[in-house]
Amino acid sequence: MNKQFNINKNGYYGEFGGAYIPEILHSSVENLKNVYLQIVEDSRFQEEFHALLRDYAGRPSPLFFANRLSRKYGCRIYLKREDLNHTGAHKINNTIGQILLARRMNKTRIIAETGAGQHGVATATVCALTDMECVVYMGKIDMERQKLNVRKMEMLGAKVFPVTSGNMTLKDATNEAIRDWCCNHDNTHYIIGSTVGPHPYPDIVARLQSVISKEIKAQLPEKEGRDYPDYLVACVGGGSNAAGTIYEYLDDLRVKIILAEAAGKGVDSGESAATVQLGTVGVIHGAKTLLMQTADGQIEEPYSISAGLDYPGIGPMHAHLAKTSRCEVLAIDDAEALDAAFELTRMEGIIPALESAHALGIFGKKQFKPEDVVVVCLSGRGDKDMETYIKSGMR
Ligand SMILES: *Cc1c(COP(=O)(O)O)cnc(C)c1O
Repeated sequence: MNKQFNINKNGYYGEFGGAYIPEILHSSVENLKNVYLQIVEDSRFQEEFHALLRDYAGRPSPLFFANRLSRKYGCRIYLKREDLNHTGAHKINNTIGQILLARRMNKTRIIAETGAGQHGVATATVCALTDMECVVYMGKIDMERQKLNVRKMEMLGAKVFPVTSGNMTLKDATNEAIRDWCCNHDNTHYIIGSTVGPHPYPDIVARLQSVISKEIKAQLPEKEGRDYPDYLVACVGGGSNAAGTIYEYLDDLRVKIILAEAAGKGVDSGESAATVQLGTVGVIHGAKTLLMQTADGQIEEPYSISAGLDYPGIGPMHAHLAKTSRCEVLAIDDAEALDAAFELTRMEGIIPALESAHALGIFGKKQFKPEDVVVVCLSGRGDKDMETYIKSGMR
């Protein structure tokens, strides 16, 4: 494959990526870098991975033609139903893959960071499945906001460690997880939940999530007589569901890519997570990428109504795609996402996750032609967001 838009052998996507890490993490990251490709590309790994994706996660996820939505927006809209996966989102694809990777590296203990708790639950789930010790770092504020996910992780056998430093949210939980990994790298694998972090994490997560686009490629011919769409659409927090959705089409320029980032209360409101519109080049969580920072390099606190999208950075792959104009990035605000969520619910009978609703929000901003085939990644289901939907006043 022509790798114009994918990672190069030094761990960079164009100018973005790499591994900017403290000396104490060097051996952990270096070891992972040296073994991951061989393990993940091994045919027995792939067999075991795909058997679990099928029998445990419920893949392949359907590609659903959204008839009423298509009529309304004047194009052919398909939804890739990641919401139907076990645990309700695409995140399980990554955690299944990484737990198999950890086992092959002879690790017996798993750590993870979580914000809203979705990645924590997906990690605790695969640890129960494989009898691995599991510690999840979570900001104390986030634990209070997401009690149900905390209970789920505990029921699954994980230890949820409350982080009380900093703002007591995702960034602080990540720092704590890194501190743990430094001291325990002999027996511990750190499962990062998105296409972020030092190389090789973005590439590991993108490869594991690429099952999404492999399936789209296999499912489209029966419905449209060709294996590529005109547009792929996904929301971006760190970028993992988007990376999975576009992976097989990165170098196929017939396929246009639209990414939806969270504009929160508006791109210029001071309360958003619109990293591509507002971000500048810097280093966050070990990768060089675009991030929201002050003039003197302090990371700005992001905001979005959707807990899965309020990350102040973006994966290095996506920064590169944006910088080279391979993708178009649209900022969708809270109100637009809520409208899109209610619209999908009323028109197709599917309550989407708030994150996924940002991807659907692009139809209010972008014109398509009647023959355009548009595949949207419906990254997750909306059960976890019911409280927010109810509070929004049930348009
Ligand atoms: C976590 C999450 C996201 C955002 O994460 P990405 O890594 O950008 O995919 C999007 N949708 C859902 C349903 C999520 O749970």
